[in-house]
Amino acid sequence: MNSFIIERDKIRSNAEEIFSRAGDATVIAVVKGRAYGFGIAEFVPLLHECGVRFFGVTDVADALEIKKLALPETDIIMLRSTALCDELSSLIQNDIIITIGSTEAAVNANSIALEKGTTARAHVKIDTGMGRYGFSPDDTEQIYSVYTKFSNISVSGLFTHLSSAFKNGNTTKKQLEKLSSVEDELSSRGVSCGTIHFANSSYLFKRKKPVGDAVRIGSAFTGRLPCKAHSNGLSRVGHLEGNICEIHWLPKGSKVGYSGAYTAKQPTRAAVVPIGYSDGFCVEKCRDTYRFKDGIFYILSDIKRTLFKKSVYVSVNGYKSKVLGHIGMTHTVCDVTDIPCEIGDNVLFDINPVYVSPDVYKEYI
Ligand SMILES: *Cc1c(COP(=O)(O)O)cnc(C)c1O
Repeated sequence: MNSFIIERDKIRSNAEEIFSRAGDATVIAVVKGRAYGFGIAEFVPLLHECGVRFFGVTDVADALEIKKLALPETDIIMLRSTALCDELSSLIQNDIIITIGSTEAAVNANSIALEKGTTARAHVKIDTGMGRYGFSPDDTEQIYSVYTKFSNISVSGLFTHLSSAFKNGNTTKKQLEKLSSVEDELSSRGVSCGTIHFANSSYLFKRKKPVGDAVRIGSAFTGRLPCKAHSNGLSRVGHLEGNICEIHWLPKGSKVGYSGAYTAKQPTRAAVVPIGYSDGFCVEKCRDTYRFKDGIFYILSDIKRTLFKKSVYVSVNGYKSKVLGHIGMTHTVCDVTDIPCEIGDNVLFDINPVYVSPDVYKEYI
């Protein structure tokens, strides 16, 4: 049976590394996207064991799922600003910290909290360059109002999201300057901003300082950072496992897969594993925005790939085995000419967990 294996020890050691880099800052574990593919129900209690007491989500259902786990001393923040009344109602009802990124969100949250006879806990989000959620840094009056003018909202934090922490230092610097300007403005008017946060995984592992009062970390727990941070002390967590279901000798000149993309140059022993892109193997984010420089980057990376014959590999009995031809929806063929193996043996597929289909059986070890 195909399974998605998740190693608890690696998550524990990644958590240690994250805590050590965060220093005095609170670690907010971001568990969006089904906890990056690891599943809220298993991943969140494990992180709680590791000492995480603060979780960030981008979906109301995820917030409620964490709430149901009833973990002691745990806070949850909805990182996405929402002005939708049904979302605000569930969040406030369940004492989840909301994000306010617009006056509409503040007005709706306040009236819902008032109606429920409670106070909504909130952080304020500033859009410093991501262009998704948050007040513009120039909206000083509106921001000031959220902190001071709503009887049933209590703001305890101020944050922004970085767009380019994995690469461009200059963009990050400018974003942080904008956040600081808001902080200064509020402070000068006698408002205490609360917990300041901006650092994501790339920032924490690439830039280190200053990290703010809290850090919001997702991908680092999985050991797969979007940036190249050398010797970062993290382990890649999660792989798919399947079994060889057939082995064939392909004569010289045989083709493999759709469009016959691979031709055997010599007699080749080929193993078939019933795992393919419907399980999430070799599925990556699509190339979406084509600025001129993106186009050039894509062309260059394709040329590099072709010149250096970058193939895809799997691991068969601990040996590196090359994937032959195109990967199918539910099949992968790999070269086991020099690899001792037989039908039924395990094959490991390195895969970003976020792409693993939720239908694949998940096993924490
Ligand atoms: C996803 C996300 C994070 C965490 O990003 P990583 O790079 O995975 O650590 C932090 N903050 C917000 C608002 C996010 O959406």
